[in-house]
Amino acid sequence: MLDEFIHEPRVAYFSMEIALRNEIPTYAGGLGVLAGDTVRAAADLALPLVAVSLVSRAGYFRQEIDPQGRQTAHPAPWDPAAFARPVDAKIAVTIEDRLVWIGAWLYVLEGHMGGRQPVLLLDADLDENRPEDRAITHFLYGGDEVYRLKQEIVLGIGGVRLLQALGFRIRQYHLNEGHSALLGVELLHRNRYPAEDLRPGESPYDLPRVREQCNFTTHTPVEAGHDRFSYDLVARVLGEPIEIDVIKRLAGERELNMTRLALNLSEYVNGVAKRHAEVSRQMFPGYRVHAITNGVHPFTWTAKPFRTLYDHYLPGWCHQPELLVRADCCIPDDAVREARQQAKQGLIERVHQRMGVILDAQVPILGFARRMTAYKRPDLLFADLERLRVIARQHPFQIVLAGKAHPQDEGGKRLIEQLHSHARVLVDSVPIVYLPDYDLDTALALVTGADVWINTPLRPLEASGTSGMKAAFNGVPSLSVLDGWWIEGCIEGVTGWAIGDHTETNEGDAQALYDKLEQVVLPLYHDSTESGGWIRVMKGAISKNAAYFNSHRMMRRYATEAYIR
Ligand SMILES: *Cc1c(COP(=O)(O)O)cnc(C)c1O
Repeated sequence: MLDEFIHEPRVAYFSMEIALRNEIPTYAGGLGVLAGDTVRAAADLALPLVAVSLVSRAGYFRQEIDPQGRQTAHPAPWDPAAFARPVDAKIAVTIEDRLVWIGAWLYVLEGHMGGRQPVLLLDADLDENRPEDRAITHFLYGGDEVYRLKQEIVLGIGGVRLLQALGFRIRQYHLNEGHSALLGVELLHRNRYPAEDLRPGESPYDLPRVREQCNFTTHTPVEAGHDRFSYDLVARVLGEPIEIDVIKRLAGERELNMTRLALNLSEYVNGVAKRHAEVSRQMFPGYRVHAITNGVHPFTWTAKPFRTLYDHYLPGWCHQPELLVRADCCIPDDAVREARQQAKQGLIERVHQRMGVILDAQVPILGFARRMTAYKRPDLLFADLERLRVIARQHPFQIVLAGKAHPQDEGGKRLIEQLHSHARVLVDSVPIVYLPDYDLDTALALVTGADVWINTPLRPLEASGTSGMKAAFNGVPSLSVLDGWWIEGCIEGVTGWAIGDHTETNEGDAQALYDKLEQVVLPLYHDSTESGGWIRVMKGAISKNAAYFNSHRMMRRYATEAYIR
């Protein structure tokens, strides 16, 4: 079953979450979608990869929202047997002084161009294990820190062991975020100098050899995004016989910091946009942090009307998205306008089916959808409801929102309630809908169906952001705070618009957002959908942004700068 994959040396890509398809809810947000796009791009480019993640049988969660905006999180169980096959190997890791057996499911990702890539979904739900251990791979980002550490042992240490047991030949390891950093500890074990070669007091581990094999991509400047575990907990849970002194030197004296461990075990380290790399260098002085700006998978994130359009005017765009650079000159305005109306109609129908609300195809739709969490500031657009009302009287618009809050993020859940309450206040002035259960399908409908894609994070906390890139593939310009990828993607009035200068206050940013909407974006839409001004911006988003912020450019850079060095 694995024969087609184990002969060629591969890059092992480790990620706690991965978005393989809509029916497999093993992702929570941008990190997982990026992991999925990475493997999809590798399939198109025939870049030999093997992805390693957890099976997360209970899924992330299914989101239900009541009329007050209160979120209920339901389990989202999925059946691995319906999509994947169990591999015939298992290995054990030591957790709390007992063996926990780990098996895996092989999911074969089939690219739309025929490429195939193996994905191993690690599974502890085996008869050999105690009930509590069987649940280690059930809940994505669920449970307490003990549970999290156990998951990271399974992912990092279990992942390396299983790859070996299955006969994979691994040329490089890629740590997508720090969750999998314990894989480096396992590699240290495997790269020991013979005892007779050691001088007294010398470390027995060949750290340079391990560093040569590891690449680490850090994904967030948000403190809570970096796992830390106390050494008491580590001593209790991590049963592996590695000297604690060695770990402390690599992962921090006071507590085990997974990011620091990953930084010290990886020769190649990168942030996911230029600004994010700068911020990461400030956060972790002394490390060389490169920048590889994220990208999204062209075929996956392009709506059918646009696929047809590009196929006709720029054949080959899917494999060579840089061809889209010609979109501004080579595709007739009418064809772009027609594709946009079709894509927008798709969202309008979805909103009608799901929410019973009929949006107006002639009125611009502002889209905002992402994880609901404080630094993303989904409430910024609603900072001054009276001002919004005044703007809407002169230049009508509609708003579609979506997003899940982590079940333990009380602030994020409160934001969803607030958005619902704002929508009720504005009910007579601005049509606003909140689509529940944000997933890959909803995301596609939103980024293709909106007219303007809004992003208002608190600088500098948006490492990259990727939904605006998806929008660009569908001719949807962004209106966004200058953070993450948008610093590189924004050409004012050409690919979209920036919000704010550098006021660094919520009020300042909200005023700037309203000013831009009122004076630039909405008038342009209303006055020039026929005359061509709006079309030029749609084409600017495609030719300047989709041509660059795609997963193929990203993977070619990982291949030439990280994997081959
Ligand atoms: C693309 C995507 C994200 C990430 O969007 P950001 O703009 O980076 O926040 C999150 N969730 C889903 C379902 C997505 O498709």
